[in-house]
Amino acid sequence: MDKIRMITPIAELDGDEMTRVIWQWIKDVLILPFVDLKTEYYDLSLTNREATKDAVTKESAAAIDRLGVGVKCATITPNAQRVKEYSLTSMWKSPNGTIRAALDGTVFREPIMVDGVSPLVPSWTSPIIIARHAYGDVYKDVETLCPQGSKAELVVTDALGEKRYLIADYGKSGGVALGMHNLDSSIRSFAKSCFNYALSKKQDLWFSSKDTISATYDHRFKDIFAEEYEANYKADFEKVGITYFYTLIDDAVARVMRSHGGFIWACKNYDGDVMSDMLATAFGSLAMMTSVLVSPTGKYEFEAAHGTVTRHYYRHLQGETTGTNPVATIFAWSGALRKRGELDGSEALVKYADALEDACIETIEKGYMTGDLKAIFKKEGVTPVSLTTMEFLHKIAELLEKKL
Ligand code: NAP
Ligand code: MG
Repeated sequence: MDKIRMITPIAELDGDEMTRVIWQWIKDVLILPFVDLKTEYYDLSLTNREATKDAVTKESAAAIDRLGVGVKCATITPNAQRVKEYSLTSMWKSPNGTIRAALDGTVFREPIMVDGVSPLVPSWTSPIIIARHAYGDVYKDVETLCPQGSKAELVVTDALGEKRYLIADYGKSGGVALGMHNLDSSIRSFAKSCFNYALSKKQDLWFSSKDTISATYDHRFKDIFAEEYEANYKADFEKVGITYFYTLIDDAVARVMRSHGGFIWACKNYDGDVMSDMLATAFGSLAMMTSVLVSPTGKYEFEAAHGTVTRHYYRHLQGETTGTNPVATIFAWSGALRKRGELDGSEALVKYADALEDACIETIEKGYMTGDLKAIFKKEGVTPVSLTTMEFLHKIAELLEKKL
């Protein structure tokens, strides 16, 4: 078989621990035999981030921006214990945070659905993709205790002077106060990323906030989304046949529960934090959740939502074989290669990505899977078999070869 040609490379960001091991296996078993893979390789292992003083992370973000598509392996975000374990000279920041900031991007989380792993909400027959605004609000707030008898005010100063707004008079009871903010530029980038991704997925976009109560702050989000939509996206949405609508978060929650899925739900920072954890649990497994970073200018980075699976790695190092689920990492690769194919007009690459995903899903639906899925798998007439990661990859490869 001739290998599928690639025109433009993608940025490949390698990572840490068990996911780094699986990264290489996925390439060896599922990609390199079929695709003449072209990547620009960046080693984001903690060891190399230390060796390059984290320059490699910034270079990799620039590569995604230049090439338009990247694929990333899970990486360690160092804490005090990792600083010791890896003898770090600094507690390097989360690569995901650095790349997100460099690309001014929004993260979209999407569950991978298979027949046999049912969401807790029976009506959800298609995935619900959640987009979380990743700047500001309560994550960048200023908070303080306010003693008895004190008064809290909001003061805004500009060239013309100062405006003061009374927050509360604390009187006999002390209390608390909080100041938070957001930026028009960040809200606009968030909106653009959401509209771009909805067009790319050809799925409806919902945006929700609490503008009835927060009549200036949340309303600003609603207005910027509406402005962007009218000015830059409405015509394309109509052409593709998808819709955008805004609704109050209370209404959105009720609609989500009654829906069949198959749409993108954009949330403010806090709502997105909470709702994405709820959806991940309700859809069944963190190991089956993918994550896509989309910039307002339409650059894409694909990855698995889970971490480096440290506990499995230590078992692997002791010579044990593990059944670490590679599906979300495989889908990161297929997502990146599909996007590359779409951008380069390479139908063969798009078809390969589709076949790879179908092969994964069908392998599981036939009953071959890793232990984490076996524990939750229920399908009439199928007795699930628990495989090691490598056995599972080879099962997928068998089916992929037939499809290609
Ligand atoms: P984790 O790596 O996601 O793993 C947590 C647990 O979830 C695992 O111990 C495992 O449970 C289960 N699990 C997750 N993915 C799995 C898979 N593919 N197959 C089977 N089981 C899976 O999270 P963590 O232990 O909190 O974090 C480990 C490291 O990852 C940390 O250093 C953290 O900084 C990093 N991290 C990176 C990213 C990223 O790069 N995007 C995201 C999150 C965390 P059992 O052990 O019970 O089998
Ligand atoms: Mg959370």
